[in-house]
Amino acid sequence: MVNSDYKLKMQEHNKKQRYIQWGRMLVQVIFLLMLFIGLNKTVKPVFVLFLLLSFVFGNYFCGWVCPFGTMQEIFGKIGSLIYKKKIKMPRGLQRYLQFSRYILAIIVLTQVIAAFVDLSGLNAYRTFNQWINEKNVQILSIAIMGSFLIIALFFERPFCNYFCPEGIRYGVASFTRFFTIKRDVNACIQCKKCNKACPMNIEVSACEQVRNAQCINCFKCIEACPVAGVLSYGKVGLPKVNLPFHKK
Ligand code: SF4
Ligand code: SF4
Repeated sequence: MVNSDYKLKMQEHNKKQRYIQWGRMLVQVIFLLMLFIGLNKTVKPVFVLFLLLSFVFGNYFCGWVCPFGTMQEIFGKIGSLIYKKKIKMPRGLQRYLQFSRYILAIIVLTQVIAAFVDLSGLNAYRTFNQWINEKNVQILSIAIMGSFLIIALFFERPFCNYFCPEGIRYGVASFTRFFTIKRDVNACIQCKKCNKACPMNIEVSACEQVRNAQCINCFKCIEACPVAGVLSYGKVGLPKVNLPFHKK
């Protein structure tokens, strides 16, 4: 009886998570199509709204709206047809590499190096938007953007993880979030499936609450968790005093 109750609970959990992922994909495709038909200026205010929402609900922009994030996911799905397993950055390296996008943003902002070398091509997010709307983009920038999409076949969201200056804005804003992913530490069986599912390489299995500037609210960790109710998205207390890019 207990077993069948649990099976039922698990089935409901899986169904709900599937719907969330389908819904997320639908929203992503709608925003991508809007960009393709030239409505990018119309959706700009929506992006500001997403930034404001990040302070309370976390970063929904990167996982649900960003057209280049969507493109990387599409390439990731194509890659899964060739090779199911995705390459993961070793945890020790990830700890340091997650700062690369901040370093890049500082370099571009301060123009220290940018005064001598044009680094704008590294911003594949911008290149993608320009390429769709203006069409006159440097070949080198397109090559860099294309490289990120090729890498995305085998490595989830390479640009979002280590380079995106847009993601910083939403990620840092999300540090004050009152709603986030929570883990029931007593019910967790430490299978670490959540870590494998996370496209942003967050060690979910080590967090009580995900308070990581990399989190994009994709909910793939909840979908992957084999124990219903261990991971959930909900209200949490005020953040402890940590840096925005703290590991947990
Ligand atoms: S997938 Fe669920 S049960 Fe497994 S480690 Fe993560 S939170 Fe724990
Ligand atoms: S922690 Fe969960 S919701 Fe956040 S990015 Fe990773 S898989 Fe997505």
